[in-house]
Amino acid sequence: MESFLPGPVQNPLMISPHMSDGQGYNSSIPGLYAHQTPTKGSPHPSSGLYNYSGSQNVSPLSNYQGPGQTLNRPPMGPVSMVPLQQGSLPQMPPPSQTSAAVSTSAGSVLPGANLPALSNWQYGQALVSQPTTGSQENHFAHIAGTTSTQPLSSSGNTNPPTSYQYVASPGGPPVQNSYMKPPLGPPPTGCPTSARPFATPAGLPISSAPPHLLNSAMKQEGTTQSPPVPPNSKMGRSVGYSYPTLPPGYQNTSSPGAPGMQSPSLQCTGGPQPFPQPAFGTNHLAASMGGLSLQPEGLRTINLLQERNILPPAPLQAPVPNLHEDIQKLNCNPELFRCTLTNIPQTQALLNKAKLPLGLLLHPFKDLSQLPVVTSSTIVRCRSCRTYINPFVSFLDQRRWKCNLCYRVNDVPEEFMYNPVTRVYGEPHKRPEVQNATIEFMAPSEYMVSYLQLTWFITFDSTIHFYSLQEGLSQPQMLIVSDIEDVFIPMPENLLVNLNENKELIQDLLRTLPQMFTKSLETQSALGPALQAAFKLMSPTGGRITVFQTQLPSVGVGALKSREEPNQKASAKDIHLTPSTDFYKKLALDCSGQQVAVDLFLLSGQYSDLASLGCISRYSAGSVYYYQSYHHRHNPVLVEKLQKELKRYLTRKIGFEAVMRIRCTKGLSIHTFHGNFFVRSTDLLSLPNINPDAGYAVQMSVEESLTDMQVVSFQSALLYTSSKGERRIRVHTMCLPVVTTLNDVYLGADVHAITGLLANMAVDRSVSASLSDARDALVNAVIDSLSAYRASVLSIQQPGLMAPYSLRLFPLHVLALLKQKAFQTGTNTRLDERIFTMCQVKNQPLVYLMLMTHPNLYRVDNLTDEGALNIGDRKIPQPPILQLSVEKLSRDGAYLMDAGSVMLMWIGKNCGHNFISQVLGVPSYASVPQNMTHLAELDTAESVRTIAFISWLREQRPFFPILYIIRDESSLKSSFLQNMIEDRTESALSYYEFLLHIQQQVNK
Ligand SMILES: [Zn+2]
Repeated sequence: MESFLPGPVQNPLMISPHMSDGQGYNSSIPGLYAHQTPTKGSPHPSSGLYNYSGSQNVSPLSNYQGPGQTLNRPPMGPVSMVPLQQGSLPQMPPPSQTSAAVSTSAGSVLPGANLPALSNWQYGQALVSQPTTGSQENHFAHIAGTTSTQPLSSSGNTNPPTSYQYVASPGGPPVQNSYMKPPLGPPPTGCPTSARPFATPAGLPISSAPPHLLNSAMKQEGTTQSPPVPPNSKMGRSVGYSYPTLPPGYQNTSSPGAPGMQSPSLQCTGGPQPFPQPAFGTNHLAASMGGLSLQPEGLRTINLLQERNILPPAPLQAPVPNLHEDIQKLNCNPELFRCTLTNIPQTQALLNKAKLPLGLLLHPFKDLSQLPVVTSSTIVRCRSCRTYINPFVSFLDQRRWKCNLCYRVNDVPEEFMYNPVTRVYGEPHKRPEVQNATIEFMAPSEYMVSYLQLTWFITFDSTIHFYSLQEGLSQPQMLIVSDIEDVFIPMPENLLVNLNENKELIQDLLRTLPQMFTKSLETQSALGPALQAAFKLMSPTGGRITVFQTQLPSVGVGALKSREEPNQKASAKDIHLTPSTDFYKKLALDCSGQQVAVDLFLLSGQYSDLASLGCISRYSAGSVYYYQSYHHRHNPVLVEKLQKELKRYLTRKIGFEAVMRIRCTKGLSIHTFHGNFFVRSTDLLSLPNINPDAGYAVQMSVEESLTDMQVVSFQSALLYTSSKGERRIRVHTMCLPVVTTLNDVYLGADVHAITGLLANMAVDRSVSASLSDARDALVNAVIDSLSAYRASVLSIQQPGLMAPYSLRLFPLHVLALLKQKAFQTGTNTRLDERIFTMCQVKNQPLVYLMLMTHPNLYRVDNLTDEGALNIGDRKIPQPPILQLSVEKLSRDGAYLMDAGSVMLMWIGKNCGHNFISQVLGVPSYASVPQNMTHLAELDTAESVRTIAFISWLREQRPFFPILYIIRDESSLKSSFLQNMIEDRTESALSYYEFLLHIQQQVNK
């Protein structure tokens, strides 16, 4: 049973790795493919399977698809087979030579969500965001596979057929914090990464019965829902009701500061435990008297015109929801799941009054250094709404639990009565499922399918080249298909090869490829036909297609024309943010239907119409990488960036055949989704691939008032197949209090989450209306909320611009958005670059979006160990964050601006000699090289500190920020100054001017 410790994920090499075996689950469409392998690995009869209400029934694996499937269509048409010898082949243009300009379309996934062309948002409006599905429904319908419907009756086996294993999060470098709260700003501080607090006690019987439980879970995350069962009306809607006959004294087992780890649970406690859960109610009410009792500072009203030093010196932390301590310590880490308003307004009317957007921001597949994984025959879910049991349900007694989303009372399954962690019977509330807001369910190991990675390669210019890597060949064989109007696949059985078994041939090909085309005079790019070919190759199994593109596609289907105006001064009009063809979107939807995601690496020095190309990734849940000005010789720092990011891409965790559903407490309604995916049914996101670096956002409204509710909950469930072939479900649950006053709504505002959601909405608005419309809407969001605060909360009208403490950074962040590449006007922003930034807004987790929008500025010429983090044997200095204004710069100093994907270190003219010699390693300011992008490791304390700090910042990201070291005279200084958000620029207001503008509008 040790098999759940996943090794490093070995993602395939370039073009298109996919797993054959692992993809087999239920994804096939019976009869569609000629060589479908019969079902393998059928589970044992369900000896330990119980049928009871509320549990997730398990169904056997079905439809295993083996490798080696071929397409029905026989090869025909012109095929020429050429042995791979250098110089004798048709040639492809060398990698693009200069700077590129591309970016991904960042429109909402639902451009159909036609926002009204108003310049402000109506947050409460429920936008139905169903993209046109076309023929996709059919494909999707087959994902779920078979589900056996089990009778809902209790059966009485008392063996504990469950095992738990806490394992380190599979794959991926341990980039981030453990998910312990409170999050300490950036990253990890030497937490052990392999703690297994829930290790199975020796001798614990381990489940051998249950079959592939997750199939039916998938079904449930799919389009079907069990018919709603009327909730027990007598139960009312209160949450957290304590079971009255048991004495108080229930203690959560989590250790402080480590929710989710629950190490004390290792202790075996004999005998029954006191039962009641902490009551949400009374304590919560007490705590909320007068607002956030825990944060007196939060009660302040701030005059923004007077208080200029509002930027905190350390990264801003998410507000802590005002819940009883026992509940809050179980709550989900805000890095994974957070809400724009941590105090949920009771009614839509109250929400409307606040003029703030209500929505969720998710980073659901984030790399975690510790993740509780439960392998169980039974996944307990609400019979009515399919919510997974979680820390915020209430136990009415040992045998009944009440759903925190729909309030149905469910039976506790017999199996769930036993807690294998403590080996105690009768404490279902102590099971890990009820102790962890983030948890992963996994099918028992015996149901893993054997795992095989298949890889293939295609190159293309005006023709398409396939590569036979068949075993026994002494070298790869190239097959050229010149008919790009109707592409077929020559000898598909020889193209798909096992990565490990054919390593030498593959390495041979990769070594040979660069030379093969060096003498080519070809300048055409048949990207569309090549993608069609890739889709045909992949569709039997699903998987991932990785595309490297260096120019505008020019021939065949999907060919594009340049739409970029030279010297476009972003007049906010006539900017081509929408795709010029629906070819890429349609193909992406076909891919999505076959569980194929397409990731795009655009390495280009010229306009490549990312607005059109990006659709291939956006709708197939892929990723877009863009290297503007890429050149393999002339721009070595971008080459390094590509190498680092490609390595991360190939080695990061990947989930296949994923779907995600977000549920929330009855009364709340989700209506618009942001991110890269396809919306399958109203609220089911189809994600052929899920990766740990993707973020998502959703908008919500209050459909029915939340009367009598003290708390509401949100739950995301992500079902996927791991690269080892396991079916897993990762569940995050968050609980938030409901409030009835406007003041409380403002007190709980999460300004980063609000800014992030508004940025997503502004991308949609830019695409559906115009850039200027989106900009107006952003400004109006500030004006409207501060006006409402002034009119409805402040009892005394004071001069100035008053803001609740929670929103003190709101105008600054919105100004930063207006100056960001996605939304700025009046400057020369390359169109592809703008669209790429919009894509990042849509697809990045909130933390990176905020860094990209409002960079962190540090003085670095005087770093000390005072307050440094200790990570392993490293000391990481923690200099304070400075306001983004030249006022904060001194010519005596050196400053690091961390803008997420790029870092700029500005060296002042009079910077101390010590820093210049001990850190930069040059004798004087004048000898600092013009294009310096690396800091050499010197044997000085100053060098060690500086490099430790920069490395630490970089380690926390899935991408590789380039470091530019610039002198005052450098041409890059303008980039540095453009990020000085608080200062006036040629085309944009200073922060103070912006505040005056807001004040004028608020006081109208
Ligand atoms: Zn329910």
